[in-house]
Amino acid sequence: MDKGENRVEKLIITIAPTGNVPTKETNPNTPITPDEIVEDIIRCWNLGASVAHIHVRDKEGKPTCDRAVYKEILEKLEARGCDIITQLSTGARGGGEGVDPAEWRGQMLDLNAEMASLSTGSSNFATMVNSNSFELIEALAKKMYDNNIKPEIEAFDLGMIDNAIYLQKKGVLKAPMHFNMVMNVLGSVRGTPRNLLHMVESIPPGSTFNVCGIGPAQVPILAMSMLLGGHARTGLEDTLLYEKGVLATNTMLMERVLRLARELGREIATPDEARGILGLNKK
Ligand code: MG
Repeated sequence: MDKGENRVEKLIITIAPTGNVPTKETNPNTPITPDEIVEDIIRCWNLGASVAHIHVRDKEGKPTCDRAVYKEILEKLEARGCDIITQLSTGARGGGEGVDPAEWRGQMLDLNAEMASLSTGSSNFATMVNSNSFELIEALAKKMYDNNIKPEIEAFDLGMIDNAIYLQKKGVLKAPMHFNMVMNVLGSVRGTPRNLLHMVESIPPGSTFNVCGIGPAQVPILAMSMLLGGHARTGLEDTLLYEKGVLATNTMLMERVLRLARELGREIATPDEARGILGLNKK
């Protein structure tokens, strides 16, 4: 006789279709224009994605934080009847050289989105520093809460979890916090089971967590997140290849996460179920 089922939340799948790094040259399936991004998000939403982690590009395809481009995407998703939870990136690679980073990276936070990413520390990227001072984190967090946007705390390292706990004690961040363990970025924590377990055990009780794994770390680390009761992110932002020598599409990556979830016994959350799990109350 077995011991019965452990109660585990339904799985929230986040699609990250574009990011700041992929290009048509490195993978021609990367959605770059607002219309391409909207189409890929809708395809993945139809498959079961409940959150869209959105980055935008300018007319030349370069990363930007341009509020007008975010607005266009949000309006087009709404016009198509897509109820996916929209999560806007406030990441450090969104351009804006020479402009105040809080203004530039937070310029879109007054739009009608439900979530935004918030890195709670600094680290290295391959060609630049992922620079996030406490002053910047606090300014972005304030604008998020002022607009009823829930931060997804991007932890590229264990110390960023400790920073989030510090900021929560200071009243800058609100419990329950939702984390994204960003693993296997060059310059940050490696995507290993031991590292993920340590990070998950370091978040405050009552928190929720998502995991993304860059490149070949993705499949094992998402499987482990599912086993630990966490959530899963996929998309071309996180891996350009489906496997060695095979360029991915966003839907191919979604379908693999769905197969993993099915085999590991995790049901898929609808957007409204994800709102319940994450405590969103905007719509
Ligand atoms: Mg991102």
